[in-house]
Amino acid sequence: MIVDCHTHLNYYSDENQAALPKTLDTLKLEMKRNRIDFALTLTSYKELPGRPTTKEVVEATRDIPYIYVIAGVSYYIHDQKYLDEIREYIQSGKVRGLKFYCGYEPFFPNDEKMRPAVELAEEFDIPLLIHCGDTFSPKGKLKFSHPLHVDELAVDHPKLKIVICHLGNPWIRDCMEVVYKNKNVYTDISGLVLGDFSDRFERYMVKQLQEMLLYGVEPDRVLYGTDFPISSMSSYLEFIRQLKLPQDDLKKILSENSMQLFKLKASDSPLSGGRGY
Ligand SMILES: [Zn+2]
Repeated sequence: MIVDCHTHLNYYSDENQAALPKTLDTLKLEMKRNRIDFALTLTSYKELPGRPTTKEVVEATRDIPYIYVIAGVSYYIHDQKYLDEIREYIQSGKVRGLKFYCGYEPFFPNDEKMRPAVELAEEFDIPLLIHCGDTFSPKGKLKFSHPLHVDELAVDHPKLKIVICHLGNPWIRDCMEVVYKNKNVYTDISGLVLGDFSDRFERYMVKQLQEMLLYGVEPDRVLYGTDFPISSMSSYLEFIRQLKLPQDDLKKILSENSMQLFKLKASDSPLSGGRGY
Protein backbone atom coordinates (compact mmCIF):
# COMPACT_ATOMS: atom_id res chain seq x y z
CA MET A 1 0.00 0.00 0.00
CA ILE A 2 1.32 3.48 -0.90
CA VAL A 3 0.21 6.90 0.32
CA ASP A 4 1.59 10.00 -1.40
CA CYS A 5 1.11 12.60 1.32
CA HIS A 6 2.27 15.57 -0.73
CA THR A 7 0.83 16.37 -4.17
CA HIS A 8 -0.56 19.48 -5.84
CA LEU A 9 -3.26 20.27 -8.37
CA ASN A 10 -1.59 23.53 -9.40
CA TYR A 11 -0.67 24.40 -12.95
CA TYR A 12 2.87 25.76 -12.69
CA SER A 13 3.87 26.51 -16.28
CA ASP A 14 1.14 29.13 -16.76
CA GLU A 15 -0.43 30.30 -13.53
CA ASN A 16 -3.01 32.34 -15.41
CA GLN A 17 -4.49 29.27 -17.02
CA ALA A 18 -7.20 27.38 -15.12
CA ALA A 19 -5.73 24.24 -13.53
CA LEU A 20 -8.76 22.13 -12.64
CA PRO A 21 -10.04 19.69 -13.89
CA LYS A 22 -7.02 18.98 -16.12
CA THR A 23 -4.53 18.60 -13.27
CA LEU A 24 -6.93 16.37 -11.36
CA ASP A 25 -7.17 14.00 -14.34
CA THR A 26 -3.37 13.90 -14.54
CA LEU A 27 -3.09 13.14 -10.83
CA LYS A 28 -5.61 10.30 -11.06
CA LEU A 29 -3.88 8.87 -14.12
CA GLU A 30 -0.44 8.96 -12.48
CA MET A 31 -1.81 7.37 -9.31
CA LYS A 32 -3.28 4.55 -11.35
CA ARG A 33 -0.11 4.12 -13.40
CA ASN A 34 2.07 3.95 -10.28
CA ARG A 35 -0.42 2.01 -8.16
CA ILE A 36 -0.76 4.68 -5.47
CA ASP A 37 -3.55 3.99 -2.97
CA PHE A 38 -4.09 7.48 -1.57
CA ALA A 39 -2.97 11.02 -2.30
CA LEU A 40 -3.16 14.09 -0.13
CA THR A 41 -3.27 17.20 -2.26
CA LEU A 42 -2.15 20.57 -0.89
CA THR A 43 -3.85 23.84 -1.82
CA SER A 44 -1.86 27.01 -2.40
CA TYR A 45 -1.22 30.27 -0.58
CA LYS A 46 -1.77 32.15 -3.85
CA GLU A 47 -5.05 33.03 -5.49
CA LEU A 48 -4.62 32.54 -9.23
CA PRO A 49 -6.44 30.51 -11.89
CA GLY A 50 -3.50 28.08 -11.96
CA ARG A 51 -3.78 27.60 -8.19
CA PRO A 52 -7.25 26.25 -7.39
CA THR A 53 -8.71 27.32 -4.06
CA THR A 54 -9.43 24.93 -1.20
CA LYS A 55 -13.14 25.19 -1.98
CA GLU A 56 -12.56 24.31 -5.64
CA VAL A 57 -10.34 21.34 -4.76
CA VAL A 58 -12.74 20.07 -2.09
CA GLU A 59 -15.63 20.24 -4.57
CA ALA A 60 -13.66 18.62 -7.40
CA THR A 61 -12.51 15.70 -5.22
CA ARG A 62 -15.70 15.26 -3.19
CA ASP A 63 -16.60 11.92 -4.77
CA ILE A 64 -13.07 10.55 -4.95
CA PRO A 65 -12.52 8.47 -1.80
CA TYR A 66 -8.77 8.08 -2.39
CA ILE A 67 -7.86 11.79 -2.67
CA TYR A 68 -7.91 14.10 0.37
CA VAL A 69 -7.10 17.76 0.82
CA ILE A 70 -4.56 19.66 2.90
CA ALA A 71 -5.74 23.26 3.14
CA GLY A 72 -3.12 25.93 2.55
CA VAL A 73 -3.37 28.84 4.99
CA SER A 74 -1.88 32.03 3.59
CA TYR A 75 -0.31 34.46 6.03
CA TYR A 76 -1.75 37.40 4.09
CA ILE A 77 -5.01 36.20 2.61
CA HIS A 78 -6.62 34.00 5.25
CA ASP A 79 -9.32 35.32 7.56
CA GLN A 80 -11.83 33.92 10.05
CA LYS A 81 -14.29 33.22 7.25
CA TYR A 82 -11.75 30.97 5.54
CA LEU A 83 -10.98 29.12 8.78
CA ASP A 84 -14.73 28.59 9.33
CA GLU A 85 -14.96 27.18 5.83
CA ILE A 86 -12.05 24.80 6.47
CA ARG A 87 -13.65 23.75 9.76
CA GLU A 88 -16.65 22.54 7.76
CA TYR A 89 -14.45 20.63 5.34
CA ILE A 90 -12.61 19.01 8.25
CA GLN A 91 -15.91 18.00 9.80
CA SER A 92 -17.10 16.56 6.48
CA GLY A 93 -13.87 14.53 6.37
CA LYS A 94 -12.40 15.93 3.15
CA VAL A 95 -9.73 18.19 4.65
CA ARG A 96 -7.19 16.13 6.61
CA GLY A 97 -4.49 18.70 7.37
CA LEU A 98 -3.33 22.31 7.07
CA LYS A 99 -0.29 23.76 5.32
CA PHE A 100 1.82 26.83 6.07
CA TYR A 101 4.08 28.18 3.34
CA CYS A 102 6.86 29.63 5.51
CA GLY A 103 9.60 31.10 3.34
CA TYR A 104 7.29 31.58 0.38
CA GLU A 105 5.56 34.00 2.70
CA PRO A 106 7.65 35.86 5.29
CA PHE A 107 6.51 34.43 8.64
CA PHE A 108 7.80 31.98 11.23
CA PRO A 109 5.70 28.91 12.12
CA ASN A 110 4.90 30.27 15.59
CA ASP A 111 3.71 33.70 14.37
CA GLU A 112 0.82 34.95 16.55
CA LYS A 113 -1.30 35.71 13.50
CA MET A 114 -1.36 32.00 12.64
CA ARG A 115 -2.43 30.85 16.09
CA PRO A 116 -6.14 30.37 15.20
CA ALA A 117 -5.09 28.00 12.39
CA VAL A 118 -2.73 26.13 14.75
CA GLU A 119 -5.55 25.78 17.27
CA LEU A 120 -7.90 24.51 14.58
CA ALA A 121 -5.42 21.74 13.71
CA GLU A 122 -5.04 20.90 17.40
CA GLU A 123 -8.78 20.83 18.00
CA PHE A 124 -9.39 18.26 15.27
CA ASP A 125 -6.09 16.43 15.68
CA ILE A 126 -5.10 16.97 12.05
CA PRO A 127 -1.45 17.55 11.15
CA LEU A 128 0.02 20.91 10.21
CA LEU A 129 2.43 20.65 7.28
CA ILE A 130 5.08 23.34 7.12
CA HIS A 131 7.14 24.19 4.08
CA CYS A 132 10.81 24.02 5.03
CA GLY A 133 14.03 24.37 3.07
CA ASP A 134 14.67 25.79 -0.37
CA THR A 135 12.02 27.96 -1.93
CA PHE A 136 11.51 27.13 -5.58
CA SER A 137 11.01 30.86 -6.17
CA PRO A 138 13.89 33.37 -5.81
CA LYS A 139 11.37 35.68 -4.12
CA GLY A 140 11.19 33.34 -1.11
CA LYS A 141 12.97 34.36 2.10
CA LEU A 142 14.99 31.48 3.46
CA LYS A 143 15.31 32.45 7.10
CA PHE A 144 11.58 31.77 7.48
CA SER A 145 11.83 28.29 5.98
CA HIS A 146 14.61 26.96 8.20
CA PRO A 147 13.41 23.80 9.99
CA LEU A 148 14.87 24.92 13.31
CA HIS A 149 11.97 27.38 13.69
CA VAL A 150 9.55 24.45 13.84
CA ASP A 151 11.04 23.45 17.19
CA GLU A 152 9.46 26.31 19.12
CA LEU A 153 5.97 25.59 17.75
CA ALA A 154 6.43 21.88 18.50
CA VAL A 155 7.47 22.55 22.10
CA ASP A 156 4.71 25.07 22.78
CA HIS A 157 2.04 22.80 21.24
CA PRO A 158 2.95 19.26 22.29
CA LYS A 159 -0.41 17.90 21.11
CA LEU A 160 -0.08 19.42 17.64
CA LYS A 161 1.28 17.05 15.00
CA ILE A 162 3.65 18.80 12.62
CA VAL A 163 5.17 17.66 9.33
CA ILE A 164 8.38 19.34 8.14
CA CYS A 165 8.11 19.15 4.36
CA HIS A 166 10.99 18.23 2.04
CA LEU A 167 13.28 17.05 4.90
CA GLY A 168 14.01 20.78 5.28
CA ASN A 169 16.43 20.29 2.36
CA PRO A 170 19.23 21.42 2.34
CA TRP A 171 19.07 21.74 6.15
CA ILE A 172 18.53 18.03 6.56
CA ARG A 173 20.65 17.76 9.73
CA ASP A 174 18.66 20.50 11.43
CA CYS A 175 15.44 18.80 10.38
CA MET A 176 16.80 15.51 11.76
CA GLU A 177 17.37 17.05 15.16
CA VAL A 178 13.93 18.71 15.34
CA VAL A 179 12.22 15.42 14.42
CA TYR A 180 14.45 13.39 16.74
CA LYS A 181 13.83 15.65 19.72
CA ASN A 182 10.10 16.30 19.33
CA LYS A 183 7.84 13.28 19.34
CA ASN A 184 5.09 15.31 17.64
CA VAL A 185 7.17 16.18 14.58
CA TYR A 186 7.34 14.19 11.34
CA THR A 187 9.03 14.87 8.02
CA ASP A 188 8.12 14.12 4.42
CA ILE A 189 10.61 13.30 1.68
CA SER A 190 8.79 15.21 -1.06
CA GLY A 191 10.12 17.75 -3.53
CA LEU A 192 13.78 16.81 -3.50
CA VAL A 193 14.00 17.05 -7.31
CA LEU A 194 12.36 18.78 -10.25
CA GLY A 195 11.15 15.97 -12.48
CA ASP A 196 13.32 12.84 -12.25
CA PHE A 197 16.26 12.08 -9.99
CA SER A 198 19.62 12.05 -11.76
CA ASP A 199 21.80 9.09 -10.72
CA ARG A 200 24.32 11.24 -8.89
CA PHE A 201 21.74 13.22 -6.96
CA GLU A 202 19.80 10.07 -6.14
CA ARG A 203 22.91 8.48 -4.63
CA TYR A 204 23.57 11.63 -2.62
CA MET A 205 20.00 11.80 -1.28
CA VAL A 206 19.89 8.08 -0.48
CA LYS A 207 22.94 8.63 1.70
CA GLN A 208 21.35 11.61 3.44
CA LEU A 209 18.19 9.69 4.24
CA GLN A 210 20.05 6.63 5.43
CA GLU A 211 22.10 8.90 7.68
CA MET A 212 18.90 10.42 9.07
CA LEU A 213 17.50 7.02 9.98
CA LEU A 214 20.85 5.99 11.43
CA TYR A 215 21.00 9.14 13.55
CA GLY A 216 17.92 8.08 15.42
CA VAL A 217 15.01 9.47 13.49
CA GLU A 218 12.54 6.63 13.71
CA PRO A 219 11.03 5.35 10.49
CA ASP A 220 7.71 5.93 12.26
CA ARG A 221 8.13 9.63 11.64
CA VAL A 222 9.16 9.73 7.99
CA LEU A 223 6.42 10.04 5.36
CA TYR A 224 6.44 9.20 1.69
CA GLY A 225 5.45 12.12 -0.54
CA THR A 226 6.52 13.33 -3.97
CA ASP A 227 5.41 16.95 -4.55
CA PHE A 228 3.81 15.77 -7.81
CA PRO A 229 3.61 17.31 -10.45
CA ILE A 230 6.90 19.05 -9.55
CA SER A 231 8.62 15.69 -8.95
CA SER A 232 7.81 12.54 -10.90
CA MET A 233 5.96 9.71 -9.13
CA SER A 234 7.79 6.88 -10.89
CA SER A 235 11.19 8.39 -10.16
CA TYR A 236 10.26 8.71 -6.49
CA LEU A 237 9.24 5.07 -6.25
CA GLU A 238 12.61 4.12 -7.70
CA PHE A 239 14.32 6.42 -5.19
CA ILE A 240 12.60 4.87 -2.19
CA ARG A 241 13.60 1.39 -3.40
CA GLN A 242 17.23 2.51 -3.53
CA LEU A 243 17.16 3.08 0.24
CA LYS A 244 17.10 -0.71 0.70
CA LEU A 245 15.17 -0.42 3.94
CA PRO A 246 13.99 -3.38 6.03
CA GLN A 247 10.49 -4.34 4.84
CA ASP A 248 8.79 -3.18 8.06
CA ASP A 249 10.40 0.27 7.91
CA LEU A 250 9.57 0.64 4.25
CA LYS A 251 5.92 -0.16 4.96
CA LYS A 252 5.79 2.48 7.68
CA ILE A 253 7.24 5.16 5.43
CA LEU A 254 5.26 4.25 2.32
CA SER A 255 1.87 3.95 3.97
CA GLU A 256 1.35 3.07 7.63
CA ASN A 257 2.51 6.39 9.10
CA SER A 258 0.34 8.42 6.76
CA MET A 259 -2.67 6.11 7.13
CA GLN A 260 -2.52 6.79 10.86
CA LEU A 261 -1.65 10.49 10.75
CA PHE A 262 -4.31 11.41 8.17
CA LYS A 263 -6.80 8.80 9.46
CA LEU A 264 -7.22 7.02 6.12
CA LYS A 265 -9.26 3.86 5.74
CA ALA A 266 -7.62 1.03 3.81
CA SER A 267 -11.00 -0.08 2.45
CA ASP A 268 -11.26 3.25 0.53
CA SER A 269 -8.20 2.39 -1.54
CA PRO A 270 -9.01 1.67 -5.19
CA LEU A 271 -6.50 -1.17 -5.00
CA SER A 272 -7.93 -2.94 -1.98
CA GLY A 273 -11.63 -3.29 -2.44
CA GLY A 274 -12.59 0.33 -2.97
CA ARG A 275 -14.50 1.60 -5.98
CA GLY A 276 -11.45 1.55 -8.26
CA TYR A 277 -9.76 4.58 -9.83
ZN1 LIG B 1 4.69 20.97 -2.28
